[in-house]
Amino acid sequence: MDLGDVASAKKKRVVVIGGGIAGAVAAKNLQDHADVFLIDQKEYFEITWASLRARVEPAFAKRSIVNHVEYLPNAHVITTPAVDVTPNEVLTAEGRLIAYDYLVIATGHVEDGPSTKDDKLSYYQEEHSKIRSANSILIVGGGPTGVELAAEIAVDFPGKKVTLVHRGSRLLEFIGEKASRKALDWLVSKNVEVVLGQSVDLNGVVDGVYHTSAGETIKADCHFLCTGIPIASSWLRNTLFSESLDAKGRLMVDLNLRVKGHKNVFAIGDITDIPELKQGYLAEQHAFVAAKNVGLLISGGNENRMEKYKAASGVLAIVSLGRKDAVAQFYCVTIVGRVPGLIKSGDLFVGKTRKLIGLSSDI
Ligand SMILES: Cc1cc2nc3c(=O)[nH]c(=O)nc-3n(C[C@H](O)[C@H](O)[C@H](O)COP(=O)(O)OP(=O)(O)OC[C@H]3O[C@@H](n4cnc5c(N)ncnc54)[C@H](O)[C@@H]3O)c2cc1C
Repeated sequence: MDLGDVASAKKKRVVVIGGGIAGAVAAKNLQDHADVFLIDQKEYFEITWASLRARVEPAFAKRSIVNHVEYLPNAHVITTPAVDVTPNEVLTAEGRLIAYDYLVIATGHVEDGPSTKDDKLSYYQEEHSKIRSANSILIVGGGPTGVELAAEIAVDFPGKKVTLVHRGSRLLEFIGEKASRKALDWLVSKNVEVVLGQSVDLNGVVDGVYHTSAGETIKADCHFLCTGIPIASSWLRNTLFSESLDAKGRLMVDLNLRVKGHKNVFAIGDITDIPELKQGYLAEQHAFVAAKNVGLLISGGNENRMEKYKAASGVLAIVSLGRKDAVAQFYCVTIVGRVPGLIKSGDLFVGKTRKLIGLSSDI
């Protein structure tokens, strides 16, 4: 055993599962204080809220996709899905058992894209070609993803016919009605056709003709599916955490962000049942709290002194509308246009997020 092994043998082992913003920030903050393993099914962290810009400008993704090893020089990165957990080990899809003293679960939403950075960059290139070569584009889903993608295309490719179909009665149902109306007006002003209260049958498409639930037809050269993505917790259903999942499949946590009933297991980010909007900036806060609490337990501190997480009250959200505009809800105030756009839409918080994980804002 060399000295490095002796040092790491003395350190407590922390396994973080999931390398989105929550897991990335937690692993980053713990890597110098414990023997940290990050298990993620892909080799990179992606700033998800920049992913729609990457479809209209593929080079944008070179900064918003970062290999985990770049910001985790002192941790071990394992690229494979976690498939099972016991009270002291995680089992990976390739059959490896990783022991832990403390576990942080941060698997957020289901991810089925490429597992390498190069493949993800190629994927955005293909998505970009799909947009470029189409004259008419159908976007299915009017949540933040559908609205932001429609806006990106409308701004960068104003000559294309964009139609957005949403099953609900208003866009952006996760925030207030005023924001929905302002987003709708903005899209219509950019010649996006918005169809509300209808769904699209994606199985019966012939020669670019799509049928809606109201019997209408829409002609489009291609479509993008922007409907909600499920929580990535199905892999936990047959584990010791089966009782810790709520009816929506989210992990129930206490105020210290420990999974209820498990003293050495924390959960953070979108997978938790914390009663607040699912937002990346909140997932970052969860990660700081969990990292502090794991650090305290590792150093033998009194668990009564662990930090408590206070769920965000009210709505604080910005939905970008192309490169300069946005619609924002700051609690009771809703604004649209350049002012909220200045906060988010130029860089989409990419530089800020890169700095958060210890990288320069540029490459
Ligand atoms: C269009 C859009 C715009 C947004 N804009 C903003 C914004 O402006 N500001 C903001 O704060 N938030 C924004 N959000 C929300 C934000 O993206 C999420 O809240 C945030 O990504 C949640 O992070 P997470 O780490 O919990 O989960 P995720 O980002 O979903 O990451 C989960 C990770 O776990 C991995 N994983 C899953 N299952 C397994 C498994 N079994 N084993 C190993 N790894 C696994 C995945 O590969 C992934 O890396 C936006 C979201 C969207 C869709």
